[in-house]
Amino acid sequence: MGPPGVGKGTQATILKSHLKVPHLSTGEILRKEIALNSDIGKVSKEYIDNGLFVPDNILIEIIENYLKSSVCQDGYILDGYPRNVQQVKDLHLLLSRLNQSIDVAISLTAEKKELIKRLIKRSKDSGRSDDAIEIISKRQDVYWKQTAPIIKYYRENKILKEVNGLGTIEDITKRIIKVIK
Ligand code: AMP
Repeated sequence: MGPPGVGKGTQATILKSHLKVPHLSTGEILRKEIALNSDIGKVSKEYIDNGLFVPDNILIEIIENYLKSSVCQDGYILDGYPRNVQQVKDLHLLLSRLNQSIDVAISLTAEKKELIKRLIKRSKDSGRSDDAIEIISKRQDVYWKQTAPIIKYYRENKILKEVNGLGTIEDITKRIIKVIK
């Protein structure tokens, strides 16, 4: 977990090779659906382009398909899911049904000012519709309103690890590896 621009995708991609488990980025999965112009893609595009969350029922369907698949049976990294209180509940129910559990929830932290700076830089070559300047700030607000409250849930469940997301990519990876050992 962590606000847009904090480096979740970058770190998850590195950790994927380190832990030898798949990396499930809901943002990436949705962007692929949009590129394919699938039914999920068509619905999602409107929300993503406006910096809003795609409906929870779409997300849980995607997650359920992945978590049941053979590639996820030895573990996985969830990047960008869950993202609100309802998704925490949906995931909890799904994991109970599949007899799976979460080992660790990582919250990457950074100041809003720094994140906006990074996202403006990323917008120059990411090609992402939601990296448009006016949407950047909106996505930060949505994070603080909807995602930040779920951190408390994982803290109370004693699986939360908070990691400073400022610094070089290598330093942040080292910090994450240290807390998941
Ligand atoms: P990301 O690549 O994680 O920054 O996600 C990009 C966009 O995809 C988000 O701003 C949302 O519009 C959508 N999205 C990704 N994950 C979720 C999720 N768990 N719930 C709802 N919308 C999501």
